[in-house]
Amino acid sequence: MYFEEMDIDERTKKALRKRGFSQATDVQERSIPFAMKGDVIVQAKTGSGKTLSFLIPIFEGIEGKGNEALILVPTRELAQQVEREARSIAKEYGFRTIAIYGGVSMDNQIKNLPASIIVGTPGRVMDLMRRGHLDLSGIKFLVLDEADRMLDMGFIDDIRWIISKANRNRRTLLYSATMPPEIIRLAKRYMRNPERIFLSKDEKAPEKIKQYYVEVSKGDKLKKLVTLLNEEKGKYLIFLNTKTGVQYLARRLREAGFPAREIHGDMRQASRTRVMDDFKAGKVNILIATDVASRGIDVQGITHVVNYDVPRYPKDYVHRIGRTGRMDANGKAITFVTPDDMEFLWRIEDYLGRKIKRIEIENGIVEEKEDYRSRADEFGMLTFEFYLARPAGEWEIVREAEKHGISEEGIGMIDLQGSRGRMKVHYRYADKIANVPIFEEVRLA
Ligand code: ADP
Ligand code: MG
Repeated sequence: MYFEEMDIDERTKKALRKRGFSQATDVQERSIPFAMKGDVIVQAKTGSGKTLSFLIPIFEGIEGKGNEALILVPTRELAQQVEREARSIAKEYGFRTIAIYGGVSMDNQIKNLPASIIVGTPGRVMDLMRRGHLDLSGIKFLVLDEADRMLDMGFIDDIRWIISKANRNRRTLLYSATMPPEIIRLAKRYMRNPERIFLSKDEKAPEKIKQYYVEVSKGDKLKKLVTLLNEEKGKYLIFLNTKTGVQYLARRLREAGFPAREIHGDMRQASRTRVMDDFKAGKVNILIATDVASRGIDVQGITHVVNYDVPRYPKDYVHRIGRTGRMDANGKAITFVTPDDMEFLWRIEDYLGRKIKRIEIENGIVEEKEDYRSRADEFGMLTFEFYLARPAGEWEIVREAEKHGISEEGIGMIDLQGSRGRMKVHYRYADKIANVPIFEEVRLA
């Protein structure tokens, strides 16, 4: 369906035309008619266009007075992004919009309130309400955007509190990539007979993509990436957690002779579009991105997704890989994991309900190594059998092991019987144990 055919305000149509949007996406076509009349719960995957699905109905229902619509989002980046999108339409109406989020001074935000459309993170919204700068008793719309992420981030109590202070006679619109039961409960409690529009199942990483991780130290990442890029030619989408990280890596790769481009949330839309077009057209084959900027990336033929940083939320992992839904059949997702990141990898595995395989990127070989970790016990320990090269006691074995990079806390029980024995070693050190010369022979028990 074309926006031009929709029964919506001319000014909205004009704003959409200016941005070059002519056709509604699936979720927009299916949910907008309902959201213009009543409450809705919408599930659709990331990048499907949910933002306009609520912004368009909001503009149908507001008049340019103070505090008419509150849109709650989980992060500062999203607050900025959604507010920008709202502003691009509000300009045609002469309505005011504002993004409010924590980590910056409140003064500017206070000065700019009230506004017709307020996009904010729950913490800061609550703060401003408590201090009497934000009154929601007259709002017409309350939107919960990325509701699953907000719950994951522990905002549920804040959200309940905010809702309890908001105008009861409002429309409530809820959007989420996934629909865990807590969200359904929230909706039952706070929404009025909502229309449910579910477009896709919960997003899980596509099965056909091979998923791996590599253990790296912080200082090693660039070297490993360069090895990978040299070894396996292809179309790479590389994710980092921060904008500055993205800029830095892009620069380093270009210095190393790789034509890498970058995309992040602070770039102008025009330059983002240009970069995306070049990537799609195959003019560049290495694109470095933040999560925020990756929204809407849907490029065919990506062979590698590299998580240069481990995403902090499992859903971001799925989204990153989901960016490549139409990925090459032999697509690989490779996550770089530093020792500090290990717990985030575990969370991802819990979320996926499966283990991610470990590989090694070394001296030009990218290979699957023995997967020590999955064989370790619940404390991460593996049992090795060994024969000693010379007589030695437990204490000496520990000292020798330490000399060869196995730290003492990585060594568990040692059970020595003459020249042979067994010892427990943390899987992280498993690769090193064969190099300790005190052992004549050592193998996994
Ligand atoms: P979601 O919230 O579902 O993850 P967004 O609302 O952020 O998705 O939209 C993803 C991208 O698609 C954005 O860059 C947005 O500007 C673009 N987009 C949304 N609707 C349309 C449309 N009808 N036509 C073209 N692009 C669109
Ligand atoms: Mg969204």
